[in-house]
Amino acid sequence: MKPRSNGRAFADLCSPEVHDAVEAQTLVWPVGSIEQHGPHLPLSVDLVIAEAFAQQIARELAAFALPVQPVAARSLPQSGGGLAFPGTVFVRGGTLIDFLADTIRSLCALPVRRLLIVNGHFENEPFVFEALDQIACERAGHEPELIALSWWSLVDDGWLRARLPAFPGWHAEHGGLTETSLMLYLRPDLVTASRPCHDDPPRPGIYLHPADTASTTNNGVLSSTTGANAELGEELFWHVVGNAMALVTGGHGLLRPSPAERTRP
Ligand code: ZN
Ligand code: MN
Repeated sequence: MKPRSNGRAFADLCSPEVHDAVEAQTLVWPVGSIEQHGPHLPLSVDLVIAEAFAQQIARELAAFALPVQPVAARSLPQSGGGLAFPGTVFVRGGTLIDFLADTIRSLCALPVRRLLIVNGHFENEPFVFEALDQIACERAGHEPELIALSWWSLVDDGWLRARLPAFPGWHAEHGGLTETSLMLYLRPDLVTASRPCHDDPPRPGIYLHPADTASTTNNGVLSSTTGANAELGEELFWHVVGNAMALVTGGHGLLRPSPAERTRP
């Protein structure tokens, strides 16, 4: 089953209709990165994947999706290959926090009930959380509810053990089995046939300068791509969508499900 894109597009609304359209609704904002993903995947991997998850979640919530944010946190050697590979575009951490906080502040000025940020780029996570925390500290009330999730954080341990026995840690799943499989499912037109494998994935929590990208990656790929296929990507996609829906509507947030969410099967 292909994900049906196009929930409701926030940016396609006209200004006079915005207030009524989004009142008590959820906004879903995908945040990604333009970043090298090896020789077989495009720079847009973190955009394609974040946007696909965000649009599907928005459709299931009857929510509005924003366009994906393409430029975000710096790629690091142990989790994205770093800046040794051409094509990666980023902004500095302080700039990113300010950008995210300003954008979230603008969105929270709307009469929405929930803002959900769907992250697709490993290095974005602490900056997204910090920006949300800034906004939360400024506010007196509880609405809108603020939720941010990185898609990989919704993958169950049991699923990982069964499907990826040699799982190297999410920091090293860069251009590897999961991203290659998701891209083969979502945008096979952007994936080439080469499958570089890196058999010695870097450990997290270590920073060496200068970075030795010849040992931490194989041509920008940090882990194994062996076994990547569209079927695995499809299974992973719907596993994450299901868990995201459970998280958002199942009481992990503070708000009760909306009537539209409650009527979902
Ligand atoms: Zn990626
Ligand atoms: Mn990334």
